[in-house]
Amino acid sequence: MTAVVGTRTEALQARWSAVMLGNYGLPPVALERGSGSTVWDVDGRAYLDLLAGIAVSSLGHAHPAIAEAVARQASTLVHTSNLAMHEPGIELAERLAAMVPAPARVFLCQDGATANEAALKIARKRGNLVGRHRVVSTVGGFHGRTAGALAVTGTPAKREPFEPLPGGVEFVAYGDVQALRDAVDASTAAVILEPVQGEGGVVLPPPGYLAEARALCDAAGALLVVDEVQSGIGRAGSWLMSVDQGVVPDVVTLAKGLGGGMAIGAVIATGEAAEVLAPGDHGTTFGGNPVACAAALAVIRTIESEHLLDHVVAVGERWSASFDALDHPLLAGQRGVGLWRALELAEPVAPAVEVAAREHGFLVNAVRPGSIRLAPPLVLTPDEADSFSAALPAILDAAGQ
Ligand SMILES: *Cc1c(COP(=O)(O)O)cnc(C)c1O
Repeated sequence: MTAVVGTRTEALQARWSAVMLGNYGLPPVALERGSGSTVWDVDGRAYLDLLAGIAVSSLGHAHPAIAEAVARQASTLVHTSNLAMHEPGIELAERLAAMVPAPARVFLCQDGATANEAALKIARKRGNLVGRHRVVSTVGGFHGRTAGALAVTGTPAKREPFEPLPGGVEFVAYGDVQALRDAVDASTAAVILEPVQGEGGVVLPPPGYLAEARALCDAAGALLVVDEVQSGIGRAGSWLMSVDQGVVPDVVTLAKGLGGGMAIGAVIATGEAAEVLAPGDHGTTFGGNPVACAAALAVIRTIESEHLLDHVVAVGERWSASFDALDHPLLAGQRGVGLWRALELAEPVAPAVEVAAREHGFLVNAVRPGSIRLAPPLVLTPDEADSFSAALPAILDAAGQ
């Protein structure tokens, strides 16, 4: 008689639970490898990855361009610190600066939170120089988990256990131009907002919102910081959603998809905001290391050479049309831009939909109790997109039971 042996996933879950701090819920999957938009778990199950590690694995998994760039750079030079410069970092900064139609300067860091920390320090220092001390942010927004980024994150459940945080922050309703108009005045140092609230549930503001924010900041003399950590580098079918909408922010922050899975963040600053930081004002030991920069350059070059911005728009529209065509009592609607979409459920059963999708071989994310977020690799093929649309009725049936 053979003993009942648990799965490898269960064994890893037991080890994980015994050793990891309690800040995350127990992950339901243990991933081992990936290729394109498919990942395999340690028990050999395949999943179509429709979340891409939270909008990060922009070229999918094990993309040869990233694998080669990382391997080449890792066998050449991994780290310099900021006491030396390196060409991959300079070239990346040049590529990022060229994404805004204005003279720009770049700071490279590790991730989204550290990009927003740098952006807030720019806003704070410039605000102190000109006597402005308030920062306006939006309810439902997300800017990261470090103290400064958390202080401007408009989600009380994430923020309140860690107060007091850096102060002088005011939250206004997202997408509400009048609320912004009422809040932004001569005491405002900066406004920080996302072009689409990603963690908030892929929430799109009304058309023209960013442009209105730009105009209000210009009129009041405040900096506009646009957090494109999730929206940037192809997710929405553009390099930067702000620029695509004709808006030039004072500061743009980037991370998630930029490194294709390697940890990197960036700040792009224009105009006055590009001149605020002086030597000694800010820094990072690891940020923008040559390997991460080589990966980001591979991501940018591949998006260009494979015309992925157009591809993202086309596959996104195809998905959108297929969701609109689906008549299911649990599907109340859908929204999004490019390969960044949310399915709105008629009941708060998103966690059950996430589980049912996994059982059908799809990784999706219950971003809100009633919303499922889709943020697949930008290389998702039309056939892969269709396979999810085809499975969706059965997934919703299973979740509704
Ligand atoms: C994920 C995210 C962040 C935080 O990025 P980390 O890399 O997790 O620190 C900040 N802003 C937005 C809009 C995000 O989606």
